[in-house]
Amino acid sequence: MHPETRIAIIGGGIGGLVLAGLLRRQGFRATVYEQAAQLVRIGAGIVLSANAVKVLRRLGVEPALLATGIRPAAFTSRDWMTGERSYECRMDAAAEARFGAAFLNIHRADLLDVLLGALEPGVLQLGHRLEALEPRGDAARVVFSHGASVAAEIVVGADGIHSRLRQILLGAEAPRFTGRLATRAIFPTERLGGAAMEDCTKWWGPDRHALSYFMTARRDEVYVMASVPGSWRGDDLSRPLPRDAFLADFDQAAPALRHIAAGATNCAVWPICDRPRNDLWHGGHAVLLGDACHPVPPYMAAGGASAIEDAAVLARCIAEHDDRAAAFASYAATRIPRVAEVQRISVANTWMRGPTEALDWFFGYDACLAPLAPATTGAAA
Ligand SMILES: Cc1cc2nc3c(=O)[nH]c(=O)nc-3n(C[C@H](O)[C@H](O)[C@H](O)COP(=O)(O)OP(=O)(O)OC[C@H]3O[C@@H](n4cnc5c(N)ncnc54)[C@H](O)[C@@H]3O)c2cc1C
Repeated sequence: MHPETRIAIIGGGIGGLVLAGLLRRQGFRATVYEQAAQLVRIGAGIVLSANAVKVLRRLGVEPALLATGIRPAAFTSRDWMTGERSYECRMDAAAEARFGAAFLNIHRADLLDVLLGALEPGVLQLGHRLEALEPRGDAARVVFSHGASVAAEIVVGADGIHSRLRQILLGAEAPRFTGRLATRAIFPTERLGGAAMEDCTKWWGPDRHALSYFMTARRDEVYVMASVPGSWRGDDLSRPLPRDAFLADFDQAAPALRHIAAGATNCAVWPICDRPRNDLWHGGHAVLLGDACHPVPPYMAAGGASAIEDAAVLARCIAEHDDRAAAFASYAATRIPRVAEVQRISVANTWMRGPTEALDWFFGYDACLAPLAPATTGAAA
């Protein structure tokens, strides 16, 4: 596409900021429109696997990420009740050489901060909530809820699981509640009272699991997230959770896990949702990426990494094709088979419980170099 192509990216989350950075490095006029009026350090931890870090490297942010987040010594799987180890994947220099980059655990807000640092001032426009999209010949008019509008030839929906652009493109369909809740706590490491904690452990229970890891290079901040059965009523996306309610889910846990959970402060709960697979990712001026088109339960820790891979492939397709429809079709055809497999593995929730064959397939992938598929898939009507 011509570098003067106006590209409006809806959503300043993980995928949107990465896409903006990659496009602007290639000389495109990409602007990110984010509904939030200001950026605050809320949220959760995120695992950035080597396949994600390889893309972020192209933005020049790898040193900042390594200085902020932690390179865990290993990913360890343990039994929820006995604490017995079922698997350990060392994240050492040999693993980094094998997969092509480091693994990182980081606070989501710190990640967004680093990504934002790679963009020139003004690229991120806060306080812009997408309301409508009006096709107008060669461009579309992007209308925001406060009444302002902009024209763009390409409009990217990087607006997350409740995507408004997806709704405009495919019709209203609420995300599917999976019958499980995510609970989480974030607290200073000193609350562990000097007890040792592994860098990154997944605890596997009969009807639940938890992930505990440090989020900072200094190992001074702990993140614990559990997935437990539960119900959810109401439209709110998350709620504060009383500490006692958070701890109650760990009643039957191994002593080491109970001790980590006992450090909890700052607890929250939200419903775990996904969507059935849908291969219509684009139509007219609009194209979707990340959770807007393929949200998964967070059991493979791959949703953010998939959004980052999407961004890398979409940026390449926009640069390589003269025609918008061809760019979108090549992007979708390249991404759909891989994302479908991530979706399948995430739902199965067995990833790295024991020796896992597909590690090279997932971690070794480089979305900036992988072959692009020909432009063949259909678009939304
Ligand atoms: C508990 C939990 C743990 C997870 N752990 C991991 C992990 O360890 N590793 C991993 O890779 N992934 C993980 N994920 C998944 C990951 O967080 C998501 O897949 C990822 O954030 C998706 O990125 P995105 O850019 O598509 O959307 P988001 O990061 O959700 O960003 C969407 C953005 O769009 C904005 N927005 C929404 N609507 C509008 C609108 N109408 N107009 C303008 N802006 C709008 C939002 O405010 C937001 O900033 C986890 C998810 C959960 C729930």
